[in-house]
Amino acid sequence: MTTKTHEQRMAAKKAVIDARIAKATEERGIVILLRGNGKGKSSSAFGTLMRNLGHGKTGAVVQFVKGRIATGEHKFFQAFTNIPWHIMGHGFTWETQDKERDIAAAEKAWEVTQELLQDDSIDMLVLDEMAYIFKYKYLPIEPVLAALKQRPKHQTVIITGRVMPDALVEYADTVSTVKDDGHAFRLGVKAQAGIEY
Ligand code: ATP
Ligand code: MG
Repeated sequence: MTTKTHEQRMAAKKAVIDARIAKATEERGIVILLRGNGKGKSSSAFGTLMRNLGHGKTGAVVQFVKGRIATGEHKFFQAFTNIPWHIMGHGFTWETQDKERDIAAAEKAWEVTQELLQDDSIDMLVLDEMAYIFKYKYLPIEPVLAALKQRPKHQTVIITGRVMPDALVEYADTVSTVKDDGHAFRLGVKAQAGIEY
C-alpha cells in the first residue's frame, strides 16, 4: 500500500477546487442574508459595502430601525463617501410601544427601498434590520420578493436581521447565520462606541 505524500494530497485538492472555480462563471448581483442571534450582522454588511466602494462601485443604505445613538458606520460613510443613507425607523419596537407609528415607519422605509431596488445606478444596497418588519408582520413578504426579483441584474442586496422569513431564505443566494457563543454584554460590559455602534 502506498500512502500519498502531502504534496500529492494537496495536488488532488487543488484539482477539485480548480474544477469548482472553473464551473462558477456567472457574474451578477446576489442577495445576501445575514441572520442569527450573534454579533456581527450589520458590521459584516457595512464591511462588504466598504469593500464594494473600494472597487469604485456605488451603494446605498436603508436602516429600518433607528438606533438610539449616532453610529460609527454612519459617521464614517458620511465623512468619506456621498452614498444615500436613509434612517427610517423610530427605535426598537419594544421601546416605542407604538405599533401604528412603527407600521408607518416600515411603510415609508419600504417606499424608499423600492425606489433603490429600481435604481440602475446602485450596485449594492444594504437593508439593515429589515427582517424585523416581517417578524412583526408590518409588511407582507410577497411585494418584497417581487421587487427583489425585478431589481437590476448587477445589484447586490444585503439584508440583516435576527430572524428571516422562509421565503426570503429560499430566494437568497448567500445566507449566513451568526451564532451567539458568548457576548460581552452578559459579562456586564456596556454597549461601547466603536464596538457596538
Ligand atoms: P453588529 O452591528 O455589531 O454587527 P448585529 O447587527 O449582529 O451587531 P443586532 O442584532 O443588530 O446585532 O443588534 C444590535 C446591537 O446589539 C449591537 O450593538 C450588537 O453588538 C448587540 N448585540 C448583538 N448580538 C448580541 C447578543 N447576542 N447579546 C447582546 N447584544 C448583542
Ligand atoms: Mg444589526
